Amino acid sequence: MNNNKTAILRYLEANHQQHLDIKAALIDMDGVLFDSMPFHTLAWKRLADQLGIEANRDEFYLYEGMTGVATINLLFRRHCGKEVSVEEARELYKIKAEYFRNSGPVDVITGAHDVLSCLKRSGIERVLVTGSGQPDTLRRIDEEYEGLFEPHLRITAADVKHGKPNPEPYLMAQQRIGAAPTQTIVIENAPLGVEAGHASGAFTIAITTGPVPKQNLIDSGADLVFDSMPEFAQCLPQLIEDFRNTSL
Ligand code: CA
Repeated sequence: MNNNKTAILRYLEANHQQHLDIKAALIDMDGVLFDSMPFHTLAWKRLADQLGIEANRDEFYLYEGMTGVATINLLFRRHCGKEVSVEEARELYKIKAEYFRNSGPVDVITGAHDVLSCLKRSGIERVLVTGSGQPDTLRRIDEEYEGLFEPHLRITAADVKHGKPNPEPYLMAQQRIGAAPTQTIVIENAPLGVEAGHASGAFTIAITTGPVPKQNLIDSGADLVFDSMPEFAQCLPQLIEDFRNTSL
C-alpha cells in the first residue's frame, strides 16, 4: 500500500468516516504560495534587536501563523516575565511590518501554481487562509495566481480574531465554502498552521519549504508531509485519485 492510502485510512478511522468526498483545499499563503518567510523572520529579528531582546532568527519560523501581537508578547514574557498592552504590541508590530515591506518583492514558491491548477482541474475549490494582513502580498495573489482564488474565498487577518494554532481560520474557511471538515484538505508549511489544520478536522498536508524539520510537522499532526512543493505537485494527481478510491 502506498503512503497516501495508509494516511487516508488512518484519517478515515480517526474521523469515523467510510469514504472521503474532498470538496475544497484550504491553502495557507506565507511559505506555501510565497517565499516570504525569510523576509518575515529577518524583520522579526531586527525588531527584537532594536528592543534589546535576545532572539534567534530561525526561532521565528516556529512562531509562523501566530498573530503579531502574540509573537511580541511571547518575546516580552521570555525577556522580562510580563506582557505589554495590546496597543503597545500593535505599535511594535507596525515596525516589524514596515521592515517586512521594505524587504522588496517576495518570490513565489516554485510548484505552487501547478498545485493550484491541478486542484482546479480536479474540481476542488480553493480557499485562501492566512493570518496575514500584508496588503502588498495579498494583492499579488491576483497577479501570480490569477483565476485560482475567488474573491469571496479568502480568509485573512481582517476576518479572524485568533491566530494559529487556534483552528478558527480553518473553521471559518470550511463554513465559508459550506463543507464539513472531513470534506476539506489543508495545505500548510509551519507547525502552528499544521496544528490549526489538524484541530479543524481537515486532512492536513504539510510541505517543507523552509528550515523547519519534517518531524516537527509530523508531531504537529500532519497527515502527510512532502519534502518540497514540486514534489507535492508531482504527487497530487495520484493523491486525488487515492482520496476518491480509498474506503474503510
Ligand atoms: Ca505559512
